[in-house]
Amino acid sequence: MKNLRSMLPDEIEQLLTELGEPKYRAKQVFKWLGRGIGSIDEMSDIPKALREKLKSEYTVYKPKVLGKQVSKIDGTIKYLWELYDGNAVETVVMSYKHGNTVCVSTQVGCRQGCAFCASTIGGLVRCLEPNEILEEVMFSQLDSGKPISNIVLMGIGEPLDNFDNVVKFLELVNHPDGMNIGMRHISLSTCGITEKFDKLAELNLQLTLSVSLHAPDDETRSKIMPANHGRGVDELMECCRRYYEKTGRRISFEYIMIDGVNDTQYHAELLSKRARYVGAHVNLIPMNHVEESRFQPSTQGHIKAFVKILEDNGVNVTVRRKLGGDVEASCGQLRRKMQKGNRIK
Ligand code: SAH
Repeated sequence: MKNLRSMLPDEIEQLLTELGEPKYRAKQVFKWLGRGIGSIDEMSDIPKALREKLKSEYTVYKPKVLGKQVSKIDGTIKYLWELYDGNAVETVVMSYKHGNTVCVSTQVGCRQGCAFCASTIGGLVRCLEPNEILEEVMFSQLDSGKPISNIVLMGIGEPLDNFDNVVKFLELVNHPDGMNIGMRHISLSTCGITEKFDKLAELNLQLTLSVSLHAPDDETRSKIMPANHGRGVDELMECCRRYYEKTGRRISFEYIMIDGVNDTQYHAELLSKRARYVGAHVNLIPMNHVEESRFQPSTQGHIKAFVKILEDNGVNVTVRRKLGGDVEASCGQLRRKMQKGNRIK
């Protein structure tokens, strides 16, 4: 069955025209979908005969809240949603002065195998459909009552490994008749699936591309990120530069600070060169400890020294503020915990 929430208004219009319905019905249907209905029968101003016709081929689903944790420290909310097939993904809502940001998952699990990340431990189960990613945003907003103004694709999964569905999600969430969230308020984070960069640049979406760099040299990066094998940092930098030149959008490098692994002076100096070459902004991320991982977060002293080297080299750098420290708000942690307790599949 196809999901109606994966369809854009003009696609719904086309479908209804084929069914011999007037145009205004499409707007009605789209409105209902945006209000968060969980079944086609809830569209009370749509004639029963049409609902029956739609139900024979289409469906609508409302994900169930399996878990909800609210941080006592900063109000960050972490949701664990149950999808139609019993799988579960996480979404985080963070409140900043400038508005509320939602961090969405794009896959159930992940096949990239980064050594510091909880999301990849059980491998990839499946990709999320466009409607499922949209529903993370929609139902986080409806449940929390917090209007969402920004989206980061930094939850479970690798967005560029689910390219078509992610692009469709972006079109849906950006649509003026839908949630109408501007592309400039959206960041897509990738571990560096370089073969997809040109394809993304072609679309010329005005979103921010965040690259999880985490090491500026192949030796270190290949140790912690299998995605570096067969690609390499040089190639990644060339792809980043081309992306920047084509779209005019400044790239952001994410860099988790891991004690003794990627936080030395050597790394800071090479990272400075890389960032200058691409014109990238560097976002340093204090690592969240993952139980299964052998890595430890860098000390505050090391982070400070690292920042100073970058700044002295003229690089634009920020250190990410840690939110939701008490709700396991880091990528894949809550899903992992529930799996271990045999509470979800
Ligand atoms: N697959 C994409 C998006 C999901 S991960 C990517 O790799 O970018 C989102 C971000 O969280 C990435 O920068 C990732 O490296 C980071 N991350 C993963 N595990 C982490 C941890 N234990 N502590 C801090 N950040 C982590």
